[in-house]
Amino acid sequence: MTQARAQKRLVFRFAPSPNGRLHLGHALSALLNLKMAREAGGAMLLRIEDIDRVRCTPKLEAMMLADLEWIGFEWDGEPRRQSMHFGQYKAALDELQARGLVYPAFLSRTQIKALAAADPLWPSDPDGAPHYPGSERSHSLAQTEALMAGGADFALRIDMEKAIAAAGKPLSWRETGAGSGGKTGMVEARPQCWGDAILGRKDTPASYHLACVLDDALQGVTHVVRGADLFHATSIHLLLQELLALPAPVYHHHRLILGPDGTKLSKSRADTAIAHLRDAGVTPPEIRRMIGL
Ligand code: GLU
Repeated sequence: MTQARAQKRLVFRFAPSPNGRLHLGHALSALLNLKMAREAGGAMLLRIEDIDRVRCTPKLEAMMLADLEWIGFEWDGEPRRQSMHFGQYKAALDELQARGLVYPAFLSRTQIKALAAADPLWPSDPDGAPHYPGSERSHSLAQTEALMAGGADFALRIDMEKAIAAAGKPLSWRETGAGSGGKTGMVEARPQCWGDAILGRKDTPASYHLACVLDDALQGVTHVVRGADLFHATSIHLLLQELLALPAPVYHHHRLILGPDGTKLSKSRADTAIAHLRDAGVTPPEIRRMIGL
């Protein structure tokens, strides 16, 4: 084998959603990705995760790009914008549905919550949302069509038990991050912790999980560097990669920046927004110091 063939170029990506202003946690994620990409002589890609067409706006996207440039984040090539690729996500969703691994689910969030509230043993996913009861898993086509004809809203959910059986083997990923709760090395995936998660909606043939794994594969991403808050998402990402025959990247979940009250930063907090700090006279090197880079 020639040396050129033996050495694969590493590909990193930063994948923010323009649904609010970026904060110090995003600065850490972006600049840590860039540092790791540059040290590895790899490519640094930017992906705009804007499948939520209501919350993600062109104005927020423009402000996001300006914030990223200001902190010194650089990327290679044109950013990939997910809202331009719904056809690719739909094709994967259709394939999973044709294999009986995805079903239309009609219960609303309020209905699911009410069911869960009546049962103290009802399981919740890692984000705290109650699992879907799977009411329509065994619906006939006629039953589903009748519900759809009535105009009912629905989500396309993975049949988790069937999907795990279809994967046919235990799955694990390579973890290198310090924010993984000490679980570095090979980590066993536990996709069942998500229950029948949403992979698409009536009007949007994609979800974060589905679009993320497809794009990581389509963009040739070899290293996913992201916050520890997405550690558990990796379990369902592994399952989707296995079902869709996609390669699994290496994962590095980094520590989170916490607010003064010890809680995770959110886009609704003004005081840790990059734009707020810039307006208050904080400089990019000071931002780096604040996030410990
Ligand atoms: N778009 C996600 C977010 O802004 C990040 C997705 C990822 O890095 O996998 O939280």
